[in-house]
Amino acid sequence: MILFHPPSVRNCEPPVALSRLAGALKAAGEPVSLIDGAAEGLSYLTEQPSRDKENLQAARLYRSRNHIQDILTTSRGYENFDRYKKGLSDYSRLLNKSLPPEINLTPADYRHDRLSPLRSKDIRQAQSLPEENPFYPWFSSRLDSLLSDGEIYLGLSINYQSQVLTGAAIIGYVKREYPAVKILLGGGLISSWARTPGLENLPFNADQIVAGRGEEAVVRFCQRDYAGSGTPWFGDLYTNRYMNPVASLPYSAANGCSWQRCTFCAEKWEAYPYWERPAQEAARQLATLTEKYEPGLIHLTDSEISPALMMQLTETPPGVPWYGFSRFLKEMTDPAYCHRLSASGCKMLCLGLESGDQNVLNSLKKGISLDWVSVILKNLKEANIGTFVYLLFGTPAENQEAALRTRDFVWKHREYLDYLNLAVFTMPRISGETGEVATSDFYEGDLSLSTDFVHPAGWSRKEVRRFLDREFRGEPELRAILKRTPPVYTASHAPFFL
Ligand code: SF4
Repeated sequence: MILFHPPSVRNCEPPVALSRLAGALKAAGEPVSLIDGAAEGLSYLTEQPSRDKENLQAARLYRSRNHIQDILTTSRGYENFDRYKKGLSDYSRLLNKSLPPEINLTPADYRHDRLSPLRSKDIRQAQSLPEENPFYPWFSSRLDSLLSDGEIYLGLSINYQSQVLTGAAIIGYVKREYPAVKILLGGGLISSWARTPGLENLPFNADQIVAGRGEEAVVRFCQRDYAGSGTPWFGDLYTNRYMNPVASLPYSAANGCSWQRCTFCAEKWEAYPYWERPAQEAARQLATLTEKYEPGLIHLTDSEISPALMMQLTETPPGVPWYGFSRFLKEMTDPAYCHRLSASGCKMLCLGLESGDQNVLNSLKKGISLDWVSVILKNLKEANIGTFVYLLFGTPAENQEAALRTRDFVWKHREYLDYLNLAVFTMPRISGETGEVATSDFYEGDLSLSTDFVHPAGWSRKEVRRFLDREFRGEPELRAILKRTPPVYTASHAPFFL
């Protein structure tokens, strides 16, 4: 079976979803080929000459393409933040130089002026005219070399909107040129769509769509008996050039989030059945993978690293620095626990704080207390663990006074924060709260997973954005934290600047 991760998504490590599916297929005895479109597709674009032959700047970019990529793939680029940002902007221009003006690509996004990944008719158009996709020459020849050998099963994993139009073009190409090939479609975004009432009839011409954990489905799809999830397998993906100064090993030990209660989060409303690999087994797999692939960093990709796995890592450290998402756990109020985490290799934690107002946190069902958060942030700093803190403004429970309390809380703890992410709330279309407020569709398209709503306190998105610009970014010390937060690759590159 061929497993394909369409571009464009961050090309700094192999796709964890493919490694999990490949592990299950190998355990069932199925031969597997893996294609990471983020790495291969973007690399293909860097090699294309500029559309505008007269453009000297584009010609210069093309000649410097190796040097530009060296900035993002060697430690030199991470020694100086300004050099890094310049390298990043050159890299984005390098990717775009051969593209038509209606397409704008970054290493993390793909935008088309006329086609939206959230409109069924645009997806159908991308599917019926695959040669109009800028990755067409690359993916068609890549698939020809594998499918002409008689391969008949293809699995596509689509997790982000930026993959949708190219994923549709790949499906359209395969169905037209190789009608006997059977296509299985899954991934995080496909699962969210499939679980949203009213969106079940997706416009993709796939033979089967799978929502949720795909290991068993992918094995059965290619007529094999499921023999368990196996050990993740990356094949020769590490021969790709990933935009990271060290090889990063992504590892997922769970499906969904064990907390699953936060009212603003799709995890709660999609009611994804939670699954978690036993912590000892996860630690054993990490040890095996670390020995095999010799990474310089481990990325634990779960929505939240389970408390059991966190504890296990302190007992059997993987021997390589690691980072990932965690809740603010009560255990972290103990300085000794944070020191043990640090000793296990924990380099950075991504932590969802959302609000610095306890009433808002209670209403969001975050299950955390600001008193703990204060202690935890200090403990993590003392233990030399970096923090990437996520804030969310404009939830139904928040008003401007509460948002000011968040700003003040963050300001008070500024010396303990390494990076910040600010987001404006969008209400999941399937949220139970849609019944409590007046809602209306965003203009985005029929496949939008969020809905616009009238804020009960008049705290509209426009007001929230104005607040963030004036009151939050207006504070020099908070602006400084935001300015040192890596753009585009964000948390994926943040550990290298600590
Ligand atoms: S802890 Fe994070 S992933 Fe889990 S429900 Fe809350 S916001 Fe969602």
